[in-house]
Amino acid sequence: YVKYRNIGMKFGSTEVLKNINFDIFLGEKVAMIGPSGSGKTTLARMLMTLEKPTSGTIEISGEQLWHYKVKDKLVEANEKHLRKVRGQIGMVFQHYNLFPHMTILRNVMEAQVHVLGLTKSEAEQHAKKMLDKVGLGHKCNAYPTQLSGGQQQRAAMARSLVMKPKIMLFDEVTSALDPELVGEVLEVIKDIAAEYEMAMLLITHEMAFARDIADRVVFMADGNIVEEGPPEQLFLHPQHKRTIEFLSRFS
Ligand code: ATP
Repeated sequence: YVKYRNIGMKFGSTEVLKNINFDIFLGEKVAMIGPSGSGKTTLARMLMTLEKPTSGTIEISGEQLWHYKVKDKLVEANEKHLRKVRGQIGMVFQHYNLFPHMTILRNVMEAQVHVLGLTKSEAEQHAKKMLDKVGLGHKCNAYPTQLSGGQQQRAAMARSLVMKPKIMLFDEVTSALDPELVGEVLEVIKDIAAEYEMAMLLITHEMAFARDIADRVVFMADGNIVEEGPPEQLFLHPQHKRTIEFLSRFS
């Protein structure tokens, strides 16, 4: 469903991604692990069109992200095209970025009304259902600051999920949380993974979680995909010296 081809990325003279080739298939749950600064977030942000690769192409569902075809000719994508492609992707970050002046319910309703064009009552119905699903049905009328970090993170997930993305990106969603709140957020992600067909890319430092949830684990280091495979293979029989060294820090 998603194809990264020969992706290179430079910030100034720093090469952050080096010729990445990487696919995410429809419905697949992919965990991405690797040391800090290896380029994981940059790779995810590209799907949201928040970063533009210095070289290479990205295709989502057969459409190129930065270009589109007009009578067999590739032209530079305009904002309308980017918005359309981006509409298939949901992203939850380390910092939840809820709108502080709106209740949790309004937060989850907002984009459904303004982006999908649903009526307020339809949006409210969907929002309530989704908030129930992430265990926040009783917090609809609370404001973000009245919730714990874990609850805010679950509200942020509900806000993304309700848009029915084809792919959800989770970027270290638990790393800003107090340790006792990590479990509840990971549980919700596991439930979502089991219930929804959507593909997921999960960038995480939680190895047990990655092993549990992923169909495939990708290990990145220094802007390269060093090794990838099913969780049993990557965690129990890593092939690459770099992977072995990284995983040894977690045992
Ligand atoms: P972490 O686990 O810490 O989030 P990561 O693997 O997700 O790390 P990235 O956030 O993708 O890594 O960053 C890769 C490298 O690119 C880092 O060295 C970072 O400092 C650099 N970088 C990222 N964004 C920018 C930017 N806008 N300008 C300059 N350098 C950047």
